[in-house]
Amino acid sequence: MLSRSDREIIESSIRDIKDFPKEGIIFKDITTLLGDKKAFKILMNHLEDRYKSYNLDYIAGIDARGFIFGSILADRLNIGFVPIRKKGKLPFTTVAQKYSLEYGFDEVEIHIDAFEEGDRVLLIDDLIATGGTAEAGETLINQVGAICVENCFILELAFLNARDRLKAPVYSVVEIN
Ligand code: AMP
Repeated sequence: MLSRSDREIIESSIRDIKDFPKEGIIFKDITTLLGDKKAFKILMNHLEDRYKSYNLDYIAGIDARGFIFGSILADRLNIGFVPIRKKGKLPFTTVAQKYSLEYGFDEVEIHIDAFEEGDRVLLIDDLIATGGTAEAGETLINQVGAICVENCFILELAFLNARDRLKAPVYSVVEIN
């Protein structure tokens, strides 16, 4: 369990950038969390503690900030890391999933041989907003034969109710209401 004071240390280490990348958006900048060794350590200790009993086979991280938290956690849990990347970046045969953005579409991909059938996978990203990205990631994990056992985010914009879009349980370290 994360204490209230530790959660506050993590939350206050994340910087709000107004009107980025466009007007009306408050961008949650996690670079200040990464640069704060105390907050970063508290976060990674907490994630390790939570997931060490989940009997996971892999962490799947979403391009690009999910790679940072996901690969550290994978190493700490002594398991593998699998990247879910934006279209056109992965070199081997992929499975792709489109998802909608506010205007238009984007697409994420995973290597077709990333997992063995039935592997237990945790999906991780820095933030869930509308849930489109995570939904596509979870679908990809299931499409290539693994089981997405939980979706984990450092931040959840809870007022957007995106967790209802996901099949597996959602855990977010900090919920913003
Ligand atoms: P969504 O698909 O709407 O849930 O958006 C989630 C993805 O977009 C994540 O990969 C986030 O890194 C990024 N994202 C969306 N909204 C924000 C925000 N307000 N601040 C920082 N990143 C965001």
